[in-house]
Amino acid sequence: MIVVMKTTASQESIQQTAQRIEELGLKAHIIEGTERTVVAAIGDKRNGEQTSLATLPDVEKVVTISAPYKMASRESRAEETVIQVLDLKIGGGHIGLIAGPCSVESEEQLLQTATFVKEAGATGLRGGAFKPRTSPYSFQGMKEEGLQILATARDMTGLAIVTEVVSPMDVDLVSRYADVLQIGARNMQNYSLLQAVGDTDKVVLLKRGPSATMDEFLLAAEYILDQGNPNVILCERGVRTFETHTRFTLPLASVPYLKQRTHLPVIVDPSHGTGIASLVAPMSAASVAVGCDGLIVEVHPNPSEAKSDGPQSLTPQQFGAMVQQCKTVANAMGVGLG
Ligand code: PEP
Ligand code: MN
Repeated sequence: MIVVMKTTASQESIQQTAQRIEELGLKAHIIEGTERTVVAAIGDKRNGEQTSLATLPDVEKVVTISAPYKMASRESRAEETVIQVLDLKIGGGHIGLIAGPCSVESEEQLLQTATFVKEAGATGLRGGAFKPRTSPYSFQGMKEEGLQILATARDMTGLAIVTEVVSPMDVDLVSRYADVLQIGARNMQNYSLLQAVGDTDKVVLLKRGPSATMDEFLLAAEYILDQGNPNVILCERGVRTFETHTRFTLPLASVPYLKQRTHLPVIVDPSHGTGIASLVAPMSAASVAVGCDGLIVEVHPNPSEAKSDGPQSLTPQQFGAMVQQCKTVANAMGVGLG
């Protein structure tokens, strides 16, 4: 349920509404909009609450939210959530550009990539220090040393650092270095990890699980929002299908679909979505055309020597060309990119 307060509602009435919601055994979340405040009442539905809340001072109306994801739903917040961290802006008519290697491999590799992607127009730098690999024998990442290299790259370039956290145990450590905590596709339904990042004040980039439905994806985001962290970015990164010509199948209809259902920004990862470098630029341009709020792309100075995901990584030159192509589409769409 959403309790919509009058535009003139006092802080006292808002607090009183939240208190009444808690007394009813529900959880109250105050959501401040530019025009008015709404108070979400989350929990199992019981009878009579709606009327009891509707009569409180300064309450305009009480609306039932039909979606199972209450806080993430458009019904709870009509305005788009816009994420801004350093110069990385995602949403609100701006397509944020995050680029960098799949994994941090060395200081030289990362700093070189960071310099290139910044020059090409990126405002976020990606790079995994903790890698969730399908095989336990594959490169698992440089861990804290990798995080230190990422922090050096931020100091040098001003790029916002996006890096994955794979375990609730590491959330504090990764948060000390990262600007954006990435939750990988394999961990989309790791609920204790979602709650742990929900307890931080960091922006969270949540990737769609390769077999997750839209409702499961949005309910995963709900776990983070429910802990009190409103800064969540959704990332479509492809799903598993019968098809094998690409690594995953990248369903771009999920972008406008999600944007109709949620106020959270939606970005696309065409690198994991296709697994093939030559398909990354066309799918990035297509993502811009369907209204994405950002792109996250793998770039490596020498893809053939990458320790992970070389076949889908762009060279810095290819990335530069991709940005130009996306800018043309972004201009046509009347949105900014970078
Ligand atoms: C990654 O971003 O390198 C990664 C492992 O992505 P995903 O979780 O989408 O597979
Ligand atoms: Mn990767």
